[in-house]
Amino acid sequence: MKTDWLIIGAGFTGATLAERIASQRGEKVLIVDKRDHIGGNSYDCYDEHGILIHKYGSHTFHTNSSMVWNYLSMFTPWRPYFHEVRVVIDGKKVPVPFNLNSIYALFPPKYAEKLEALLIDHFGYGVKVPILKLRQSASGELSDLADYIYQNVFYKYTLKHWELDPEQLAPSVTARVPVYISRDNRYFQDTYQGLPKHGYTPMFNKMLNHPNIKTLLNTDYKELIGEITYQRMLYTGPIDEYFDYMHGQLPYRSMRFEFDTLDKDYHQEVGTVNYPHEYDYTRVLEQKHLTGQQSPKTTISYVYPETYTIGKNEPYYPIPRDENKDLYRLYQAEADKIKDKVLFAGRLADYKYYNMDQAVARALTLFNNEIQK
Ligand code: FAD
Ligand code: UDP
Repeated sequence: MKTDWLIIGAGFTGATLAERIASQRGEKVLIVDKRDHIGGNSYDCYDEHGILIHKYGSHTFHTNSSMVWNYLSMFTPWRPYFHEVRVVIDGKKVPVPFNLNSIYALFPPKYAEKLEALLIDHFGYGVKVPILKLRQSASGELSDLADYIYQNVFYKYTLKHWELDPEQLAPSVTARVPVYISRDNRYFQDTYQGLPKHGYTPMFNKMLNHPNIKTLLNTDYKELIGEITYQRMLYTGPIDEYFDYMHGQLPYRSMRFEFDTLDKDYHQEVGTVNYPHEYDYTRVLEQKHLTGQQSPKTTISYVYPETYTIGKNEPYYPIPRDENKDLYRLYQAEADKIKDKVLFAGRLADYKYYNMDQAVARALTLFNNEIQK
């Protein structure tokens, strides 16, 4: 078989580049995924009870990029949705990112008022402060508050999720969920937020529905590499795997999702509840909050973090820390040597903790700068 482009992986990165190459350059694309579906980790589907679920954990779309939002809006209308998360502390479910409402939910009113005044005086209203920064810069009662939040929201959750404590990870990891000096309970404050109105998978179908694109599922690209003639390849799988682990394995974190369907409208008050202290799971997800689906049943999923083992489970999370970045750079140098033939992009190939919009932005930029130039 002959094609202009062989694209490995049908997630956001692969699908965006397949769509751009096919529609803007008129070139032929064969997109291959080893899973039995398109959409990568953003895939959604109806379970046996008719509930629309996110197979690989809740996916909320949020971005400040009008470029990304306008691009995806060509393939889907949106359902407006603002994600909210609660974290369980001493049996109470309080908002996270930890904010002024969390303080009032946990502390006596007079003390909460005092903490609110101190935070606003020190940082200003509406400011987001990463927990590691709050711990360094706070003194007196604010320092006690910083320790309280660190211990109750971050420390144990992070140990469970990463098997590392927050200080052993790049500060950018816990900075994703900063302490927010505000009454805004939304998980994200991005300009554009929502979910594809009919689901992620129909949106991917539309992106890939082009006469120049052929999709091949259930196929590891290594099985067909000798049988295909192509001009260029785009690879979105794990970069260390592409190079047969020649510099050693890049560490990833995996997880397991256990689904349960209940005979009631809703199980919990918001889409995600985090459990830093109790249980082996980190989160309970309830997708009906995200999708807005009406049903007398609801499906929830428990998220259990796992060690990643090649061939046994999925490499969901690159682990952001200096030593891993150094190892990634060795692979990046290998990738540079073959860049005329093979391009690398995506959460696994760039070894970066991308959100969906960042994966799309990376793909669009790669297209504009390296392919369309
Ligand atoms: P992927 O979606 O991982 O796609 C890569 C594809 O390559 C996979 O389908 C894989 O099967 C395929 N592949 C790999 N190797 C091979 C091979 N050898 N042969 C064939 N195919 C191969 N982002 C948000 O913005 N909001 C969220 O709420 C959010 N929640 C998330 C929750 C979880 C649990 C996880 C893990 C991620 C979440 N993300 C979220 C991040 C989001 O999933 C990623 O940004 C996005 O999926 C990256 O797209 P990608 O195409 O780079 O990678
Ligand atoms: N985090 C935490 N407690 C929480 C929420 C987040 O300790 O209640 C930390 C944890 O280290 C986590 C990181 O912040 O991995 C980023 O959280 P995010 O919700 O962005 O993680 P993701 O949705 O990507 O799993």
